[in-house]
Formats: sequence, structure tokens, C-alpha cells
Amino acid sequence: TESFNTMIISIKKMIAQKKQLLYDVSHELRSPITRIKIALEMMPESQSKNDIVHDISEMEIMIDELLESARMEEANGRLQLEKVDIRSLIQDLESHFKGFKPGITFNIDKSVNEITVDYSRLRKAIRNILENALKYSSAQDKPVEVRVGESNGITEIEIRDYGEGIAADQLDQIFEPFYRVDQSRVRTHGGYGLGLFLCKKIVEAHGGTITAESPEDGGTRIR
Ligand code: ADP
Repeated sequence: TESFNTMIISIKKMIAQKKQLLYDVSHELRSPITRIKIALEMMPESQSKNDIVHDISEMEIMIDELLESARMEEANGRLQLEKVDIRSLIQDLESHFKGFKPGITFNIDKSVNEITVDYSRLRKAIRNILENALKYSSAQDKPVEVRVGESNGITEIEIRDYGEGIAADQLDQIFEPFYRVDQSRVRTHGGYGLGLFLCKKIVEAHGGTITAESPEDGGTRIR
């Protein structure tokens, strides 16, 4: 039992150190990136300049997402809580995704009350999930379905698409940082596997849970 406990402690320590390293590196990368951006401003226009600008902005997004995830893990997650009418949040997203294929249908249960959340962070989490749902089902006829309901004082948001889906044994891993279901998707869909990691951190900072399922009739359901 003693050796087992010692092993648990050292594994936990290893995981924590790995996490810390990831966040420290992300943090340290901000200054050189800022310097590169300033230097780029002085460079004459060219294709290589455009390519570097593009790459740098992708790096910035990755770093921001990692640092934001770290912030969400801190006690109370520095959330800016306010009373929010979920209908206005949904309307906001509805107009953001207007014209995206295969479209989105929204269904908000009458029982849903105001919720106390960090509006911009919750919006970011739902937007990430919706972006994925649209991205991986854009070739489908069936639109993405968003349902908001409430039971026993818990608000549940469900986002369901009928796209390519996720294999059952990968469902838990998609919330890990840098995890991507299929490396070949990287080229076609972009992204670095940080989106759902950040969503999970945002939801958990609110005291909520996030799960993914692969329904039998295809696609993905995120709750
Ligand atoms: P990324 O930003 O790279 O898309 P995410 O963290 O958002 O990363 O997603 C992690 C992995 O889960 C990705 O490899 C993506 O392929 C897969 N995934 C996420 N949402 C869906 C979905 N609705 N349908 C199919 N695959 C999905």
C-alpha cells in the first residue's frame, strides 16, 4: 500500500509539473511573439511576410487559449458573474452563425430561467462547440440542433450535429489539450485540439460538467 501511495503521489507531481511547464512556456512565448509582430510591421509587404503574420496569429491564439485555460483552473476562476437571460445569449450566437452550413436550429424550453454566469466566457465555450458541430457536419443536410432546458435547477445546453462523429473510445480524450481525433483532419479543418479543453475549463469553473456522446444514428452530442 505504501509503495502504491508513493507512486500515486509521484504521478500526480509529474502531471502537475508537466502542466506547469506548458503554462510557463506559453507565458514566456508572449514577449518574443510581440517582438516578432513589431519587427514584422517594419518589413516590406511580401508573400513571406503574409505567411509569417498568419503563423504568428495562430500561435497567439494557441497561447491565449492555454493561458485562459490556466486562469479558469485557479480558485473561482476569476469569473465575472452576472445574471444572464440565456435567450439573449442564444440570439447573439444565432446572428453570429447566420449563413453557416448546414445551419442551426434553436430550441429553448419555456422553463429556462435567468442564469448566473460569466457571459463572455460561456459565450466563448458554446461558440467553440458550435463551430466544431458546424465544421464536422457542413456536408450534411440536417442542421445542428441546440436545445436549452432546465431540470431541478440545473440548466442543460445540448448541441447535437449529424456529422462525421467521434469514435466511442475517443470521447473522453477530446477534452484533453492538443488531442485531435484524427491527425489527417488537422489539414482539412485546422485547429490544435485546444478548443474543447478550454470549454471544459470554462464549464467546470462555473461548477458545471461537460460530456460528449456519439448517438447511434450518427454525429456528436455535447451536453
Ligand atoms: P480543434 O480546435 O482542433 O477542433 P477541439 O478541442 O475543438 O480541437 O476538438 C478536439 C477534437 O475533437 C478534434 O480532433 C475534432 O476532430 C474532434 N471534434 C470536436 N467536435 C467534434 C464534432 N462535433 N464532430 C466530430 N469531431 C469533433
